[in-house]
Amino acid sequence: TFIVLEGGEGAGKSTQVRQLAIWLREEGFDVVTTREPGATKLGMRLRSLLLDRENIGASPRCEVLLYAADRAEHVETVIRPALARGAIVISDRYVDSSLAYQGAGRELSEQEITSVNTWATGGLTPHLTVLLDIPHEQGTARLGEPGDRVEDEPAEFHSRVRAGFKALAEREPDRYLVVDAQQPVESITHTIQQRLRPLLPD
Ligand code: C5P
Repeated sequence: TFIVLEGGEGAGKSTQVRQLAIWLREEGFDVVTTREPGATKLGMRLRSLLLDRENIGASPRCEVLLYAADRAEHVETVIRPALARGAIVISDRYVDSSLAYQGAGRELSEQEITSVNTWATGGLTPHLTVLLDIPHEQGTARLGEPGDRVEDEPAEFHSRVRAGFKALAEREPDRYLVVDAQQPVESITHTIQQRLRPLLPD
């Protein structure tokens, strides 16, 4: 079972990944938690190229390819092997982050980003994607990833990203759960658990 958490910065994705992993391990499942970008050795290099404070900048198409390269390595060396041995994989971000940030945010063609990523991942799609939805100002007020570049995109960029995520969720309601990320941590975890339970292996 492959589960993804998506959403803007400070939405609480990593907290929920942690909470879900604790719960699933208590239930006896083999759980692998991971994230993008930067889950592999190569990915960590790509992450710092993309997100270091001394940001060297990438043109939009280059940015798409670097995220896709990180993802290809991630799928091949972490996600697929874990799924193959029957583990539940929970990833903080996946393809839909590229559709939201590079697609909606940078205004590149969604169809083209989808093609690049379908190729990069060999078409691997999550069983469930949870969108932790929060206005950007509320999100960043809650947290800043230490070590990463401070987001310097204008507010309109972030509202396009947020709307991009919501549009993806509306298009695929069977794969998506949208949660208001301003609720207390425990009630968000509870909502995700309810939705996840029927998807779990026996
Ligand atoms: O999930 P996390 O907050 O660590 O992501 C780091 C940053 O990477 C995000 O703030 C987002 O701006 C950026 N990102 C992106 N495109 C992606 C994935 C992440 O711009 N496809």
